[in-house]
Amino acid sequence: MKYCPECKADMREQTIDEVERLACEADDCSYVVWGNPTPVVAGIVEYDGKIVMAHNVAWPKHFFSVITGFLEKGEDPAEAMVRETKEELNLDVQSQTLVGAYGFEQMNQVIIAYHLEATGEIKLNEELDDYKLMEKSDIKPWDMGTGLALKDYLKSLNLM
Ligand SMILES: [Zn+2]
Repeated sequence: MKYCPECKADMREQTIDEVERLACEADDCSYVVWGNPTPVVAGIVEYDGKIVMAHNVAWPKHFFSVITGFLEKGEDPAEAMVRETKEELNLDVQSQTLVGAYGFEQMNQVIIAYHLEATGEIKLNEELDDYKLMEKSDIKPWDMGTGLALKDYLKSLNLM
């Protein structure tokens, strides 16, 4: 960002609250690029006793994960998760439990993760091109992002 979106003055790196940030250099303007993380909801969706692991069209071939989504303006995270479950998998949420919130520095996101029990007939939307239903005991969580939520969920079941 070269020019301030508020007043069109030049932007430059400045130390604000002990952190280097891009900020407007005009004295009478307070525009700062804070870089606050974006919240993302993630759903560990249980279907027929198994966990739905989905494959996003943009991901490497063998990578499957839980579903995720962004919140609409003003939307409650729990409601966003119910909406995303319907949109991405065509499933209806019957129960919902918060698993936890996890910083995901690599993506500058904060993941708000839920465990959901859902019913219906799975139909993937255009973001997904494959899925598998995994036994909970077969899931091998990774060490960042949604993997941390999966770890906590499996720990709560004494499966880790
Ligand atoms: Zn400005």
